[in-house]
Amino acid sequence: MSAGKVWLVGAGPGDPELITLKAARLLALADVVLCDDLVGDEILAHVRPGARVIPVGKRGGCRSTPQDFIERLMISEARSGRCVVRLKGGDPLMFGRGGEECDALRAAGIECEVVNGVTAGLAAAASLGIALTHRGVCHGAIFVTGHEKEGRDTDWRALAATGLPLVIYMGVTRSAAIRSALLEAGMPASMPVAVVAHATLPDEITLATSLGELAGDLEAAGIASPAVIIVGELAARSAARSLPARRAQGRRLPR
Ligand code: SAH
Repeated sequence: MSAGKVWLVGAGPGDPELITLKAARLLALADVVLCDDLVGDEILAHVRPGARVIPVGKRGGCRSTPQDFIERLMISEARSGRCVVRLKGGDPLMFGRGGEECDALRAAGIECEVVNGVTAGLAAAASLGIALTHRGVCHGAIFVTGHEKEGRDTDWRALAATGLPLVIYMGVTRSAAIRSALLEAGMPASMPVAVVAHATLPDEITLATSLGELAGDLEAAGIASPAVIIVGELAARSAARSLPARRAQGRRLPR
């Protein structure tokens, strides 16, 4: 592991067994780990004693670390010759501003390497027992954020017109608006929807609902972020139940 370089590393969706061997090895070698607040202690246990762990979490709407602070910190730590791991939930380049971090590092002339992680949308599909690309059912899937940057509204009508399942990240607080936009786009209120909160974690919850009932059922099930919402005919094939939402039943391997 050479000094003065930043590794953008995926921590996976939560289950500590779902990080890669490469991520675990890099955590054990890093001098400094800048980590998101969705990353759990069992994963941080791979960090070598004496290394510095800097929480730089930011949840929509809550206390947050400004993005430019995170970028400046990565750059200055790397310039001081330290081995820096930027540990991000899921896959480092799926939402969560990983692309911007890569750009900032490259612009500063800092070498940057990405280590994939299991992204929440795929973990959610696994929890539901559905394939996002199911031959004869859907030939692809759309990964989209429900939390758009201001002034860059998602064209939900165009997305709905593809007929592909929508895998919506950061959608819980915007579920009423997303529901309205998709209904306006011509999706039927009966369109199946499956939701997974805290996918792969002991407090995982799965819920089967429909587009029409989405916002009300999320509230009734007490589902809050982090959750993935999957909208499309495919969702009807899921193992999720309608209300009451199903709590996780121990998907981990026996120890
Ligand atoms: N880079 C991450 C996504 C970051 S955006 C990834 O690849 O997974 C944060 C959003 O990811 C959350 O709002 C939620 O929609 C989703 N998310 C992250 N972890 C999750 C989990 N364990 N279960 C369900 N959704 C999760």
